[in-house]
Amino acid sequence: MGVHGFEALGVGILGLLIGSFLNVVIYRLPKMLERQWAAECAELSGTEPPAQEPFNLAIPRSRCPHCGHAITWYENIPVLSYLALRGRCASCKAPISLRYPAVELATGALFLFCGLHWGLSASALVWCAFSATLLALALIDWDTTLLPDDLTLPLLWLGLLAAELQWSGVDLHSALWGAVAGYLSLWSVYWLFKLVTGKEGMGYGDFKLLGALGAWFGWQALIPIILLSSVIGAIVGIAMKFSTGLREGGYIPFGPFLAGAGLTTLLVGSAALRQIIGL
Ligand SMILES: [Zn+2]
Repeated sequence: MGVHGFEALGVGILGLLIGSFLNVVIYRLPKMLERQWAAECAELSGTEPPAQEPFNLAIPRSRCPHCGHAITWYENIPVLSYLALRGRCASCKAPISLRYPAVELATGALFLFCGLHWGLSASALVWCAFSATLLALALIDWDTTLLPDDLTLPLLWLGLLAAELQWSGVDLHSALWGAVAGYLSLWSVYWLFKLVTGKEGMGYGDFKLLGALGAWFGWQALIPIILLSSVIGAIVGIAMKFSTGLREGGYIPFGPFLAGAGLTTLLVGSAALRQIIGL
């Protein structure tokens, strides 16, 4: 293994640690927003906001949801702790969701890919940030049907900035029009759908997310991304209709499929993807 391989391995291990942090973000960010909204509503209606314990990404410490056992650092080592504990809480032996190590492994794999592709460079780091943000957005949207502005907007700005600094490999012109066209295309679909059916088919977060993907890959990648996310979304939707998995109201968020299409474009390459689809 050359120097490049060791660097990539280092980036991959960083990914495992970031993945562990993403688990916290995925779980806590929606709850933090909920608290913020409750406080704002209380303020608007002139009532005293309810007193709350501090709750953010760092405080309080992670606990077992079953027994409240505070999780120590050695029970929190990405993947390894899960294996050592055989997927059970050290105190009460309640099963720990397989999702935690899965998110860590997925983040590690994506970071490793970026490390192998770009070496230890600014390009690798911004694409790592891109991957981590998309993973978090996909799971938050799947859980809560929310795509927080705190993630979609920085993703969009970083995409434009990375294009300007020539880190993302996309020229600023393509990135800018990608952001504009990405946002406006879903915005138009939203209003058309609303005018025809009177229902809301997706949310503003979806427009921002596709705008961000346009900023990262350029406008040329938008049609492949929309096609890819629609096809995967339709397959998952049908599969869930025939299983018992369909949630109340039958609503399936679109964000996870947009994010999945974005990650696929990263792995396969925007040009190769267009070639496969025949554009
Ligand atoms: Zn426990």
